[in-house]
Amino acid sequence: MEKTIDLHTHTVYSDGIFTTEELVKAVAAAGTKIMSKTDHDTTEGISEAIDEGKKYGLIVVPGVELTVQKYHVLALGIDRSNKDFQNLLAENRNIRVERNKESVRKLNELGYELSLDNVLKYTKCTANKLSTAHALVMNTANHRLLNEKFGRINEIDILKEYLREGKPAHVSRHCFPAIHPRRGIEAILSAGGLPIIAHPTKDIADVEELEVLRSYGLKGVEVQPNFLDGAKYEWFARKYNLLITYGSDFHDPRKKRPLLGLRAKGSEILIEELTKRIKYDN
Ligand SMILES: [Zn+2]
Ligand SMILES: [Zn+2]
Repeated sequence: MEKTIDLHTHTVYSDGIFTTEELVKAVAAAGTKIMSKTDHDTTEGISEAIDEGKKYGLIVVPGVELTVQKYHVLALGIDRSNKDFQNLLAENRNIRVERNKESVRKLNELGYELSLDNVLKYTKCTANKLSTAHALVMNTANHRLLNEKFGRINEIDILKEYLREGKPAHVSRHCFPAIHPRRGIEAILSAGGLPIIAHPTKDIADVEELEVLRSYGLKGVEVQPNFLDGAKYEWFARKYNLLITYGSDFHDPRKKRPLLGLRAKGSEILIEELTKRIKYDN
């Protein structure tokens, strides 16, 4: 009962550019049978995704990408009605808003007209760099300065030259510490979900870190077929009998993380664990 899976995707509810409808359609067209929409720190849009999925015979597993200190943890198959989990997500979104506020302040210092309200106007749910860049570009008062600096008016320049790590309006995650990984993992488990470490190739230098996360209750490791260096994490998962999930981390068709389509199949145990957790009544 192996099925093609893509358990890590984003929409406009966080920093993706597809609407839920567009995402589900694209995932189905790629040939995937089981997907999860895992926007950052929000469950918004999951019901929409489930309904859309039904049109294509695509199973949608409720999911979130939870921010914790140093890592992102996928919460797959969570019960969205769990109050404690929702409170935790709200706490994380507030931290994101605070970080954004600081970026806005830095952009103001650089001469741009922008307010947090402007930025929030362009987010469906979670404040992020994309909405900051978009809000800045949409304000015509900034066009003269943008033209002077970049010779054009394009949000890519804002992202690259101001908001990226090491650039003047970037605000480090460390300035507004996220929740402890143990708390995040335990909250996911309490909400009936599977905590899976997202993109370990990006965040985990040493597999020993995985040992610590496993001691907190981590249930699986994400492998990204779009990247080649995931072998040691896969080895760790097999050694400790953790689940191996596959995800594209798709945000935008113009970027280098295409949907997985037929390239990734979930193990029988994983599919069983996921389907056990799917309740379509909320
Ligand atoms: Zn992530
Ligand atoms: Zn992601």
